[in-house]
Amino acid sequence: MASLEIVTVPCRSDNYAYLLRDASGAVAVVDAPETAPIVAALEERGWGLDWIWLTHHHADHVAGVADLVARYGCKVAGARADAERLPKLDRMLGEGETVALGEAQAAVIDVSGHTVNHIAYHFPEAKAVFTGDSLFVLGCGRVFEGTHAMMWASLSKLARLDPATTVWCGHEYTLGNLAFARAVEPGNAKLAEQGAEYEQARAEGRPTVPTTIGRELAANPFLRAKEPSLQAALGLSGADAAAVFAEARRRKDAF
Ligand code: ZN
Ligand code: FE
Repeated sequence: MASLEIVTVPCRSDNYAYLLRDASGAVAVVDAPETAPIVAALEERGWGLDWIWLTHHHADHVAGVADLVARYGCKVAGARADAERLPKLDRMLGEGETVALGEAQAAVIDVSGHTVNHIAYHFPEAKAVFTGDSLFVLGCGRVFEGTHAMMWASLSKLARLDPATTVWCGHEYTLGNLAFARAVEPGNAKLAEQGAEYEQARAEGRPTVPTTIGRELAANPFLRAKEPSLQAALGLSGADAAAVFAEARRRKDAF
């Protein structure tokens, strides 16, 4: 099994970038919210930078690209369909394609909804997925550009990954997401368990990433639109899952 080293790099007020290093020593960063913390994390380890892999076009995910390219001469990968809104891409990607980091292979998943042409990077062997602003710990991104049906379809793709897959998301929004999740599913014991862990992590200044797909299926209301308990909590028993998801997302927007 190909090994993949993953380093969480807190950036800006609540963003995360992730350094990835495969067994051959190739290094990528998933998203570039700003330059300084990424450079510091690389230098601390004596690593170079070969690739920037972008999830979507928002400034808090791409603002550090130009500086990192100037400093390391690294290449940039991102969604082909969003090439006009992203920094200049050396490698254009789409759903179902794979991108290599040394010997490690990531499959590209289209997770449109927060933005259209938002992509996630899934390493099936290492069982890790980098979700940007699609799936968060106990939450999901706001639906800015796509439709709720599109976002539900995107989250459903992530929900079908191996439950052991670790999930590395673009922001530390966990405690806010936890408050909403508790409000809609106060009787969810798994949520209570996870919530206590996350509160302790944040109190100690630790990131709440990574979570896993399995943990999210048990506690993240935005992956639970098929669960009778969530449907009942939203007054939508028996409703279509996409409609249940949309109602949950709208309530969170106003929460
Ligand atoms: Zn975003
Ligand atoms: Fe963001």
